[in-house]
Amino acid sequence: MTPPLTGACQCGEVGYAITAEPVTVYACHCRDCQRQSGAAFALSLVVPRAAIGVIRGTAREWQRPSAQTASGTPMVCLFCGACGARLYHLPSRNPEVAVVKPGTLDDTAWLVPVGHIWTESAQPWVAIPARTVNYPRQPPDLAALAAAWRARR
Ligand SMILES: [Zn+2]
Ligand SMILES: [Zn+2]
Repeated sequence: MTPPLTGACQCGEVGYAITAEPVTVYACHCRDCQRQSGAAFALSLVVPRAAIGVIRGTAREWQRPSAQTASGTPMVCLFCGACGARLYHLPSRNPEVAVVKPGTLDDTAWLVPVGHIWTESAQPWVAIPARTVNYPRQPPDLAALAAAWRARR
């Protein structure tokens, strides 16, 4: 895993690049992520916001109001208007970062979550590892998740 990291939507019309080391990667089990991904949980890759950008095509934006987000944070969500795949989110609470949907990366082999958040709404059949950095709801900040990522790198 060496930047630049590249990714794209499902149809390939919109591509993006990340030019800096990621901050952390974790799994989120909140209802928002379950609904948005259509799965039991979503992976979130946190990267410096200044280091990510669309390099091919034009991403569409949808603003999710704070009252609708589990974290209470409004966010801009970037997605492909042709195939609908979500690419990354820009949370208003933390303007320093972008949160990538990392299953859209070209290389996903290195994506091992160092933590799990919103474990209180995790599906009962999902085993949360005891040794990862876990939170029942939204973490107060990303410090522990970022430290766990650095330690693994
Ligand atoms: Zn697409
Ligand atoms: Zn979530």
